[in-house]
Order: sequence, then structure tokens, then C-alpha cells
Amino acid sequence: IKKIGVLTSGGDAPGMNAAVRGVVRMALSEGLEVYGIYDGYQGLHQNRIEKLDRKSVSDVINKGGTFLGSARFPEFKEEHVREQAIENLKLHGIDALVVIGGDGSYMGAKKLTEMGYPCIGLPGTIDNDVAGTDYTIGYLTAMNTVIDAIDRLRDTSSSHQRISIVEVMGRHCGDLTLMSAIAGGCEYIITPETGLNKENLLEKIKEGIDKGKKHAIIAITELMTDVNELAKYIEDQTGRETRATVLGHIQRGGQPTAFDRILASRMGAYAVELLMEGHGGRCVGIQNEQMVHHDIIDAIENMRRPVRTELYTLAEKLF
Ligand code: ATP
Repeated sequence: IKKIGVLTSGGDAPGMNAAVRGVVRMALSEGLEVYGIYDGYQGLHQNRIEKLDRKSVSDVINKGGTFLGSARFPEFKEEHVREQAIENLKLHGIDALVVIGGDGSYMGAKKLTEMGYPCIGLPGTIDNDVAGTDYTIGYLTAMNTVIDAIDRLRDTSSSHQRISIVEVMGRHCGDLTLMSAIAGGCEYIITPETGLNKENLLEKIKEGIDKGKKHAIIAITELMTDVNELAKYIEDQTGRETRATVLGHIQRGGQPTAFDRILASRMGAYAVELLMEGHGGRCVGIQNEQMVHHDIIDAIENMRRPVRTELYTLAEKLF
């Protein structure tokens, strides 16, 4: 291969810029040409493609977001849209594509690969919900953001003996909630893996009040329930003021941490190595500190992320 393309897709994540930089700089150092595609699959379909050089990725390693832009583009599920996309890539003579995004973006990459166009997926999402990797790019940065918010909530909750519910991102994966809750010393953790049992939660909150706890922080993953209604239910049942805080998009922003910058740089460079070795239809991961790659279809359809049972148990014990 001589020319590769790179795009970022789906929800943005801190470290995506560092990943693009990793792809660009590695490709250039190996004598390849690199093209940036703007706004994910949407820009690919609209042929918004530009050649990148060393300077295109100067001063981005420390920046959150993605300078290439990202988009949700459901039309990419249609075959004729993807055919147009492949045509655009061929127009520029681009032989292969690196897609940085979450599992939705992997689906797009999988379909392009099935249509004969080689793609490599890099896990860029704060949700840590991609199989075949211990960490996704952006996850640990987002965790620090969540912990910072929990610390602040703890200060004010303790002062007022208030119960706080904090809603954390993650879609259908509880990793970000679980880890942030352990680091933030939250009393109650509700994730898609644990499910929500209101009666049980109430019982535990009452137990905490009996223990003399001044604050109660409940960390819950998004999309599980209406947190404001849950707050009202708890307040009605306990007689204690209860407030919900939805952290929302704040979790996506900010400077990537050292770990995410290094992870993204390694993964970006590794994707180029894989393409040069002739691989396609693979996704990159980090497992036990090593760069690994898996079949992208396998990662989407068959591989499951491990449920961290031991960490849920730990959180219970530290209650
Ligand atoms: P995150 O979960 O962090 O938001 P994601 O990559 O999972 O990231 P999605 O919105 O699910 O985010 O997917 C990103 C884009 O990938 C979609 O907008 C669409 O263009 C493409 N995509 C998703 N699913 C498919 C599919 N089944 N076929 C083709 N393209 C898809």
C-alpha cells in the first residue's frame, strides 16, 4: 500500500487527536501518504478528503476532541452510500482506511471490509465498551473527569447530608461508572451489569444512614432510568433531600491524560504497521500492556467484554 486514509467517527473522545497523529507520523516515517477524512463517514461520503503532512498534526497531541471532526451518519448503513464512499477513496488512490471510533464505527469498517476495502479499527470512545481491548482511547481521561465531579458532589453532599445521584456515560457498559465510583468512594453503584433494583437500593441507603453516613453518592450508568424520578423516589422514601446530576458531555472533553496520549500514539502507529503487513478487517487493542489485533467481525459479533465481578465485590466491601 502507498496511501492510507484516517477518520474519526461516533462520539468524540480525548486522545483521538493523538491517535490521528500516531497514524500520520508513522505513515510518513514509513514513506506512505496519508489522507484525512473530515466528519467521519459523512465526510467520506461527501468526498471531504485532504492530504495530511507532518504539520497537519502539529500541536494536537495535548488537545481533546478531534480536529478531523466526527459525525453520526446513519445513512452509512445503506450499501449504495458505502459504494460511493469507496469510490471517493479510490478517486484519491487511497488503498486502506483507519477508523477511530466505537463499536458503531467498527460496524461501518466491518461492512467496508466485507465489500473488499481493507479497514483497521482503533477503539476511540470514553465508554470502554469495545471488545478485544482492556482500554479504549479516552476512557481513562473521562474517568478523571468523572472523579473530579464526584469529589465536588461529595463536598456539598456531606455539608448538607444530601443524597446525590450522579449519572455517568457508558451506554450499555458500566466500566466508567464502576471505576469512577470506586475511585470516588461512592456508596452505591448501579450499572447495566448490576441492574437497578430500587427496593434493594433503598434498603442499602437506609443502612448507610443508620451507620451515620453524612453523604450518600449513587453512581449510575446513563440510559438505565430517569435519574430525576429516581431522586424523587428516594427523597420520598427516606425524607432526605436527594438530587441528580447528569454529567453529560463534560465527560467527553478535556486534555487527554498521559496514558491516553501514549495509548493513542501506540495504537495509531500499530494500525499503520498492520496495514503495511497486509492486514485488513482487524481492530487494535491493548491487552496486558501489549498491542494486539483481532478480527473486527469477531470483536463485534462474538467477543464479550469481561464483567469485573471482583471489583463490584470490592466496592461492596469498602461500603
Ligand atoms: P460511541 O459509542 O463512542 O458514540 P460509536 O462509533 O459506537 O461511538 P455510533 O454513532 O454508534 O458511535 O456509530 C458511528 C457511525 O458509524 C454511525 O453514525 C454510522 O455512520 C456508522 N455505523 C454505525 N452502525 C453502522 C452499521 N450497522 N453499518 C454501517 N455503518 C454504521
